[in-house]
Amino acid sequence: MNFDHIIVRYSELSTKGKNKQHFISLLRTNIKNHLSNYRGKYILKNDPGRIMIKPDKDIYQEVYNKLLNVFGISSISPGLLVDKNFDTLNEKIVEIIGDFKNKSYKLNIKRIDKNFQPISSEMVVNLAKSIYEKYPMINVDVKNPDISLNVEVRFSNIAIYINKNMALGGLPVNSSGHALSLLSGGIDSPVASFLCYKRGLNLSYIHFTTPPHTSLESLEKVFDLSKNLFKYSDGRALKLYVVNFTLLQNELMHLSKPEYRITIMRRMFVRIANIVAEKIDAKCLATGEALGQVASQTIESITTIENSSTLPILRPLICYDKEDIIKISKSIDTYTTSIKPFDDCCSLFVPKNPVIKPKIREAEFQENNIMWKEIIDKIIENNVEKYVISKEGVYKTDFDTKN
Ligand code: ATP
Ligand code: MG
Repeated sequence: MNFDHIIVRYSELSTKGKNKQHFISLLRTNIKNHLSNYRGKYILKNDPGRIMIKPDKDIYQEVYNKLLNVFGISSISPGLLVDKNFDTLNEKIVEIIGDFKNKSYKLNIKRIDKNFQPISSEMVVNLAKSIYEKYPMINVDVKNPDISLNVEVRFSNIAIYINKNMALGGLPVNSSGHALSLLSGGIDSPVASFLCYKRGLNLSYIHFTTPPHTSLESLEKVFDLSKNLFKYSDGRALKLYVVNFTLLQNELMHLSKPEYRITIMRRMFVRIANIVAEKIDAKCLATGEALGQVASQTIESITTIENSSTLPILRPLICYDKEDIIKISKSIDTYTTSIKPFDDCCSLFVPKNPVIKPKIREAEFQENNIMWKEIIDKIIENNVEKYVISKEGVYKTDFDTKN
């Protein structure tokens, strides 16, 4: 017996009151985006509290695997939908159980449509009787069954399923708006981005390079990370803005207090990110900072950096231990790329003793002696490249004011 449907459940969405329909429709859109390669090869239907998907046989497993990464879905099951007729149900159940002759089973009946007859307890007795008549060697075990055979009597059909695979949960991407994520080549920022997706944010990405000090490989690494993050997105092409920061980096070599170089570099990242965010209509920034992880992530440092931002900065990892971040990084498949040993622009310009507790006033004083405003204008004008990342790959387009 082949289960030909995928039963999609969404949990948190059901608690959203008036917004519920909007959330479900976003979830449907995101699912369709992720399945765009299979257009015409699957049927998607709404059913109260569920989305039912029937893919063609040859793509069933691929579709199933993709759904496991779509935020907003709480769990999925391979399933079968049958007409609301007890005899049909009986026939199917006996057929299914025939595939599990050496196993014990338990029947779980959920009668959502209370008008359906017979009632649950009678259904269990009748179904168990039919199974016994055909397969007397198959045992019922209500405590420790090998398989749980679930029957849901719904309003438009009866759903039968065995396994339930937990998906990622969270909210559908785009339900919380659009943010610009500062993506380095490291471990943390891809994980932070994943967590932003989880709470329904749609992300564009910005990455700073300092050629020739940073290599093409380090940019490749960021492309690879973005391609990987794509599978958690809303399924539409991602935008990655690559900023050539070298002009400003060279200017930062003239600070009278080199220990402020990293702090000020980050303030410049944030300023540039604010400008790009405004152009692409992103409502906040996101970073992979975690309190106390490195010198630039003390509360004083975060305060000094935050001070240069007009937009709020989300830091989903602020209270995470590195080990926990690594665990997520492995589970979302970004870890092996993140640990490839290519320099990003920070590691190359780290002064001997970076300031651990910077002061806003001192940072401003330092900045007053360099030409940062003019250089930022130049960078925005000439040194931002826009890349589009989709299922098909990465391609470069013009950076303009449109997202
Ligand atoms: P990550 O593992 O994400 O690189 P990290 O522990 O190396 O983080 P930092 O280098 O201090 O930490 O960077 C803190 C945050 O600043 C990063 O998580 C990222 O959001 C942002 N960031 C750092 N370098 C870059 C860069 N070259 N381009 C874009 N964002 C960056
Ligand atoms: Mg880094």
